[in-house]
Amino acid sequence: MDTTPDSTPPATLNRRAFVGAAGLAGLGLMGASRAQAAPAPSSSSTAASTLFTVPMNSDGEYELPPLPYAYDALEPSIDEETMRLHHDIHFNGYKNGLNKALAKLKDFRSGGDYPEIAYWENQLAFNGAGYNLHVVFFENMAPAGTTSPASSLKKTLDEHFGGMDAFKGQFSAAAKTVQGSGWAILGYQPFGGKLVVLQAEKHQNLTQWGVVPILALDVWEHAYYLKYQNRRGDYIDNWWKVVNWDNVAQRTEAALKG
Ligand code: MN
Repeated sequence: MDTTPDSTPPATLNRRAFVGAAGLAGLGLMGASRAQAAPAPSSSSTAASTLFTVPMNSDGEYELPPLPYAYDALEPSIDEETMRLHHDIHFNGYKNGLNKALAKLKDFRSGGDYPEIAYWENQLAFNGAGYNLHVVFFENMAPAGTTSPASSLKKTLDEHFGGMDAFKGQFSAAAKTVQGSGWAILGYQPFGGKLVVLQAEKHQNLTQWGVVPILALDVWEHAYYLKYQNRRGDYIDNWWKVVNWDNVAQRTEAALKG
């Protein structure tokens, strides 16, 4: 997280608590009022709370988090050009779409009139879930060989999935078989206290209410097609080499603590 990326970070960032927003955004329910309900002053930030923060400006609009490593840091698993397009264009587009949907719905409320409400609710769900998952996705990666699963994480995955290999097997199988654009997601299911692997279509479909994403793998074609073309399976196999296991362990621990 100490590598300066090539991108220019937003000038001013208000880091806000993200636990509630993370769970809701996975379900397409993230809204400004909820995200702002529990501000976390930076002076009191802890390692755990930092895992669930997103950058937000003083107007309450979501910002694009800078990439926590260089664009070419994940070569050869993920190529530089894909990372530039994915982070700067696609991720940024979801951020803009989320802010626009929230602004539109605010206008509707103030006017008491709701034209095309279904469209804008759909935009809120799609872009809110997309923004949330991309925050997790980019933080979930690190240069190959820089992290490895800690024994505590292995123990947790063993308890919930019957072993690291079993977990990775289910996760990869889910990722490889997403119909169209979507994700494989390791998430925390708060109502049962369980870790689950979900398959998501688009960003917001096939979820469970309340699940907090911990490890997210983007299998939209924009995530791999430049380098891998139709070979999604090769992309997934090579993506495991750049998983940031420290981030996964921290997110898992924070989620299980509630
Ligand atoms: Mn993506």
